Amino acid sequence: EVVIDQVHKSFGAVEVLKGVSLSVAPGEVTALIGRSGSGKSTLLRCINGLEQFQSGAIRVAGHDVTPDRAALRKLRTDVGIVFQSYNLFPHLNVAENIMLAPRRVKGVDKATARKKAEEVLALVGLSEKIEAYPDQLSGGQQQRVAIARSLAMQPKVMLFDEVTSALDPELTGEVLAVMEKLARDGMTMLLVTHEMGFARRVANTTVFMHQGRIHEAGPSRDLFENPKTPEMRQFLKADV
Ligand code: ATP
Ligand code: MG
Repeated sequence: EVVIDQVHKSFGAVEVLKGVSLSVAPGEVTALIGRSGSGKSTLLRCINGLEQFQSGAIRVAGHDVTPDRAALRKLRTDVGIVFQSYNLFPHLNVAENIMLAPRRVKGVDKATARKKAEEVLALVGLSEKIEAYPDQLSGGQQQRVAIARSLAMQPKVMLFDEVTSALDPELTGEVLAVMEKLARDGMTMLLVTHEMGFARRVANTTVFMHQGRIHEAGPSRDLFENPKTPEMRQFLKADV
């Protein structure tokens, strides 16, 4: 579960989140859409403590988000985040990349970590790449490994920030398919995406951000079929 209550966030004098409230119920998928600079990534980063916010409150997977380092470390074992850039360690193979956090952060033994790596790789359809190095994989495969790496920590909530934006169109589909499978399996997900068809089809709720505020939100189908604000209509028109 994610509960965001009246979050304000400024960079210096510039307020980029102007009182954002939203929640994602357990097992639900929420899509965040909006123009560049509207505050989507900042909001996501606030949720797992990569950015601090000035006021308001965030609760995620049973953790209150505070700047306290120990608390954040705990929170991040339950909240996975995947970015546009996959950030795999180039000198580690796929198995090692995936086993690293469970071994180091959770103290899981090697055999158990390896078994988990096999399990999450099967989930993203890359079992045969377990010994490969990142530079031997396509962008879409690397991104699926990044997702698998996050899943190996057995998160309760997953955050995705434009995970397909750097990919060629033919590789986008395979990553979206993995996310769709996760959604079907009941993962609680909050994702920033430019894939409107995906948001509409997979997200229970879509939230349109505009200038640091939630401008419009609702069940995805309603929102896309019947956008109420001129800003959202304009955005949808420009995007397709
Ligand atoms: P995009 O679709 O381009 O990814 P976004 O909706 O994710 O955009 P954010 O990255 O959240 O937008 O940025 C919101 C605003 O905050 C922008 O005006 C941006 O310039 C500003 N901003 C983001 N990070 C910082 C930072 N570290 N320091 C100063 N300003 C920042
Ligand atoms: Mg962004």
